Amino acid sequence: MLAFYRNIARLTRTASRLAGKKGTDLPGKVLRKVNDNVLTKLASNFDEIVFVTGTNGKTTTSNLIGHTLKCAGVDFINNFEGANMLDGIISTFAIQGKNNTKLAVIEIDEGSIKRVMKYITPTKFVINNFFRDQIDRFGEIDTLIATIGEQLEGKNIQLILNSDDPFVTRLSKYGEDNIYFGIAKEAYKFADFGISESKFCPNCGMELIYDHVHYSQLGFYRCSKCDFKHQDTKYEVSKASVEPFINMTINNGLKLETKLAGDYNIYNLLAAYSLLKELGLSEDKIKAGLESYSPINGRMQSISLPSGGRVLLNLAKNPAGLNASLAIANSIKDEINYLLVLNDNGADGFDISWIWDTDFNILADQNIKNIVCSGKRAKELALRLKYSEVNANVVVFENISEAVVKLKSYSEKYAIAIPNYTALVETQSELEK
Ligand SMILES: [Zn+2]
Repeated sequence: MLAFYRNIARLTRTASRLAGKKGTDLPGKVLRKVNDNVLTKLASNFDEIVFVTGTNGKTTTSNLIGHTLKCAGVDFINNFEGANMLDGIISTFAIQGKNNTKLAVIEIDEGSIKRVMKYITPTKFVINNFFRDQIDRFGEIDTLIATIGEQLEGKNIQLILNSDDPFVTRLSKYGEDNIYFGIAKEAYKFADFGISESKFCPNCGMELIYDHVHYSQLGFYRCSKCDFKHQDTKYEVSKASVEPFINMTINNGLKLETKLAGDYNIYNLLAAYSLLKELGLSEDKIKAGLESYSPINGRMQSISLPSGGRVLLNLAKNPAGLNASLAIANSIKDEINYLLVLNDNGADGFDISWIWDTDFNILADQNIKNIVCSGKRAKELALRLKYSEVNANVVVFENISEAVVKLKSYSEKYAIAIPNYTALVETQSELEK
């Protein structure tokens, strides 16, 4: 029966690709029509199913894990293409799964956890962070976390949690033999992103006291009334630097020299490391994988420019992600240009008011020559910049192709391109032209 499902999946994918689509979701959709429980059946032979989630960085974390396992010659399946909802996950099991494959590493959209866990239960669950994101779709963050907690309860899942995020550690009570990771207090100074998520105790509602803040709600916290607090970590970044690529030391021992830029990727590297250690991979193999990983998916992707320089392309879809993307250039001394692309299509969430929660003053201290605003809401971006302390030449081209041509006409060595969700693919392909 499994062979039958796999054949249907492969045929559907081929047909979908002939029609010019990516073919990542359609096989799953078709298989569900054949048998509603198809995912349960496809996953029944697996010994270890790992879920990876978090508002920001889940694709990078999952790809870091996948790349390292691949380098190490491990047999596993992984939804590399970011197809992280039910149909994409079914497609991954159907197309990549073989009779002897025992390990699945699945990136899962936090809003799809309930739907997917109706059919399969992970053995391990990596949870990196929760930020305000696409509120149109998910509802309030508290509701989202409560729903995830209900799914985890009583299922003996080992949780691998970012101890620095109180939104994440409030899920502790639903796991078994939990593992915690985090960044030491003095390991690295993050840019001050200036956004404060609600910092209240999930048990008793009292305000949390912070001994140290990394950024946003991430840091060392404790409740003033009950015993809710930052948990002791098994895996800790003891030291890190970002220039613009990340070098970091874990547990005062293993040193990693990576090809990843953007300091928030320190958490993604650490989450990947923690999971790989728990899967029993050797330190040498983990180091080889994490150090050789280079993104090609619009997450801190480096693309060459006609000027002989490079543009760093990074997707951002909420204030925390955009703040982090804007801070990337803090370590660049040369004069730089920006391309900001904002669409408001369905998958972006129609409400783009979150750009007003973003701290564009981060740019005030950078050496910026030009900022090109593009996408369907380019004008609103330009207006937002007017209300910040940014000192640069701002131009508007709603058409993404024209905007990229403009960016490429500049002679500066570095540029940062930040599209939101539905603007990513077009921005990426225009930059790569
Ligand atoms: Zn409390």
